[in-house]
Amino acid sequence: MIGGGITGLAAAYRLLELKPSLEVTLFEAAERLGGVLRTVHKDGFLIEAAADNFITTVPWAIDLCRRIGFDDQLVPTNSGSRHAFVVRRGKLHHLPDGFVVMAPSKLWPILTTPILSPLGKLRMACEYLIPRRRRTDDESLAAFIRRRFGRETYERLVQPLVGGIYTGDPDKLSLRSTMSRFADMEQQHGSLIRAMYKQPKRSEQGSGARYSMFVAPRDGMSSLVAAIAAKLPAESIRLGTPITNLERTERGWMLSLLNAPEPNAYFDAVIVTTPAEPTSRLMEGINEELASELGEIHHARCSIVSLGYPRELISHPLDGFGVVVPAIERRRILSASFSSVKYPGRAPADSVLIRVFIGGDCQAELADRADEELLRIAREELSQLLGVRGEPTLQCVSRRAAKMPQYFVGHADKVSRMRNLLTRHPGLQLAGNAFDGVGIPNCIHSGEQAAERLLSTGTAGSATPNECSSYSR
Ligand SMILES: Cc1cc2nc3c(=O)[nH]c(=O)nc-3n(C[C@H](O)[C@H](O)[C@H](O)COP(=O)(O)OP(=O)(O)OC[C@H]3O[C@@H](n4cnc5c(N)ncnc54)[C@H](O)[C@@H]3O)c2cc1C
Repeated sequence: MIGGGITGLAAAYRLLELKPSLEVTLFEAAERLGGVLRTVHKDGFLIEAAADNFITTVPWAIDLCRRIGFDDQLVPTNSGSRHAFVVRRGKLHHLPDGFVVMAPSKLWPILTTPILSPLGKLRMACEYLIPRRRRTDDESLAAFIRRRFGRETYERLVQPLVGGIYTGDPDKLSLRSTMSRFADMEQQHGSLIRAMYKQPKRSEQGSGARYSMFVAPRDGMSSLVAAIAAKLPAESIRLGTPITNLERTERGWMLSLLNAPEPNAYFDAVIVTTPAEPTSRLMEGINEELASELGEIHHARCSIVSLGYPRELISHPLDGFGVVVPAIERRRILSASFSSVKYPGRAPADSVLIRVFIGGDCQAELADRADEELLRIAREELSQLLGVRGEPTLQCVSRRAAKMPQYFVGHADKVSRMRNLLTRHPGLQLAGNAFDGVGIPNCIHSGEQAAERLLSTGTAGSATPNECSSYSR
């Protein structure tokens, strides 16, 4: 296993779960496991350097948590305030209730929201009548929303929400690879509004992400990483050991190790779970085409500033989970997450923790500013948007924490070309967030599938059908 992020850990655990007799070694370049997942505890605050929760509507993360006995450590989002705000003309407004990422499911909140103009609302309502697209090839998220709901809904609602999730530019992002469910809705129902109305009604109030579907480890993401690692034999994990080269030899797959007593190590099979850029470099000597497909995957950069304040310094009621900022507002932050409102135990009593996201593909140069400047930007923006008066008691910068792969239009075809190329190399599997989803559940699934493929092809010893079926998926 190359890479000890959540993908590599899930893959390693899956291999041993299915075939305990396997000898597995996990090489991680850093001195700690988890990759982008990292929790910092400071002065009573619990600060996530990257992901702070995951969705449970797909089974893979929650299923893994159950299998390792970690599910009792998961907490849901706080039940009050399951709303998000959006900025319009410098003021925070609730996203219309029932507006879920890209489409409305309730009429009244849309009619009454101050976020859209009367013309914008009328154009949104016309979506019901817009015929479905005849072509079935991929298109950008932005093109899809402008075509169905009009420019204003895109600029004021969808761009900030999607920009917040992917830190990317929706004019480049693939609809098929990021929000395929909405493409399917159009094809099946002819209209997203019609599709949303046909869905079973949920009693929960809310907007933005489907907050009731998210959970977080009570003690932060690092505790999940530690729980998976604890299920692996201690001697199987080699920290501080970057792999610099990968080669197929007569003795098997040869890994070149840095900072290790031995220069090389040999294995029957390898799963590479590093991000696209290092994976591309490792593929250079193996398959040039594959290396170049991976090398083309663009990553958006974003820095996160975490600020802790005494509650009384903030005049806004913070009756929501966070705020997203449309690019059209021309501010210097993408979004701010009210972490201590969203989950318990993120800040001491009478304090709040707010994580501010700066940069992303549309303002890439901001992510690279010096720490002092990132802190200044975050504090100025929060003081203007939330009425913060006074100094934070905690400040912490995760520089360029978010190197998020961007699934541009045509990404699904790219993935299928890569999968085809990979079939030429028995015993080699690739997994991670460059392929079929950036979310933690998708990464876990990607790692587990890679492990299962290796076992089913017999390159890493084959699992008997009984062994495989003893785990519910
Ligand atoms: C800011 C941010 C917020 C996010 N928020 C959420 C969220 O709320 N919910 C959610 O579900 N997802 C979220 N995500 C996405 C999710 O966290 C990531 O996609 C996922 O954690 C990636 O895991 P990974 O193991 O594939 O990659 P990584 O975490 O990048 O791990 C790869 C590992 O490979 C190692 N490595 C690299 N090169 C080598 C080498 N040559 N040899 C050995 N090791 C090497 C690295 O050191 C690293 O540890 C977020 C991501 C970011 C960046």
